[in-house]
Amino acid sequence: MKKDFYEILGVSKSASEAEIKKAYRKKAIEFHPDKNPDNPAAEEQFKLAAEAYEVLSDPQKKAKYDQYGHQAFDGAGGYGGGHGGMNMDDIFSQFGDIFGGGFGGFGGGGGGPRRAKGSNMRIKVKLTLEEIANGVEKKVKVKRKVQAPGVSYKTCSTCNGQGQVMRVTNTILGRMQSASTCPSCGGSGQILDKKPNNADAQGMILEDETVSIKIPAGVVDGMQLKVSGKGNDAPGNSIPGDLIVAIEELEHEFLKREGENLHYDLYISFAEAVLGISKDIEAVNGKVRIKLEEGIQSGKILRLKGKGIPSINGYGSGDLLVHVNVWTPKTLTKEQKQFFENALNDDNFTPHPEKSDKSFFEKVKDMFS
Ligand SMILES: [Zn+2]
Repeated sequence: MKKDFYEILGVSKSASEAEIKKAYRKKAIEFHPDKNPDNPAAEEQFKLAAEAYEVLSDPQKKAKYDQYGHQAFDGAGGYGGGHGGMNMDDIFSQFGDIFGGGFGGFGGGGGGPRRAKGSNMRIKVKLTLEEIANGVEKKVKVKRKVQAPGVSYKTCSTCNGQGQVMRVTNTILGRMQSASTCPSCGGSGQILDKKPNNADAQGMILEDETVSIKIPAGVVDGMQLKVSGKGNDAPGNSIPGDLIVAIEELEHEFLKREGENLHYDLYISFAEAVLGISKDIEAVNGKVRIKLEEGIQSGKILRLKGKGIPSINGYGSGDLLVHVNVWTPKTLTKEQKQFFENALNDDNFTPHPEKSDKSFFEKVKDMFS
């Protein structure tokens, strides 16, 4: 009598796909022939688990098995009667999907030396709002690990430059090979040959380098840019790591950023509000002149189209929103005080808001719509 597939994997009939996969992974590792040389019982378990997984991981086969049991696979190419269904090649070919590749394959050996990559370096670059708005090229000094002048590397004799070593195990199913990273060279296929005096154990020295970083307009605080190949070098025939540049936005004295829009608080005197005036505002692309009409109300927001921050994707720019604030004098001369006392009873000074003088909340709503 053949053992139940669910029992073999140690899962319930209602187990999910992920649970089945996990259970099989556990069994495959436990009974792997490399771990159990010359152990026919383990070998048997290994094959049974693979067979069970082959069926239970396939929705169609699983449905058939749930309905008819082992009989579902009797006949041509079936799994019934004994376990001649799968050979070791089949089993190992499943592994790419179970173990995500790299797990001791069967007779594998491809690949060759992978080129080592140096480590990445990280720096922070502080930018003004003006630099962010216009884009900027920054030159930064970094200390990079590079191969020392005069250093030389030779082919690793442990792996013959392959970066991997093959392990051969004899099992009852025959010779099995599995690859692992070479312990002598760490996978690069090369080891240090001549080491200059000032170099470290890997033949590396620290060198100052000025790196030029092109920063596009519209970057955001916290954003990271990558400068390829400007990180640390690695020994031997390798490729350098990258320089990761984190953007830090400096606070602006007058402008507040909100996404691509900028906000500016403009203070005008009571007299300027009454008489109207032109004002120059320092925007991120230079001065902008705005005209305030006579009788402008405090709280008015003027929208200067396209005077904000350019979109990082290159689609237009945000706006500059100028918030008008009327400054109320706190000290007055006797005559001024007299003037305003008279104004108290003057209808010209009595508020008469019109529909066009939207409330603050309506304006805020407009701004974000
Ligand atoms: Zn090696």
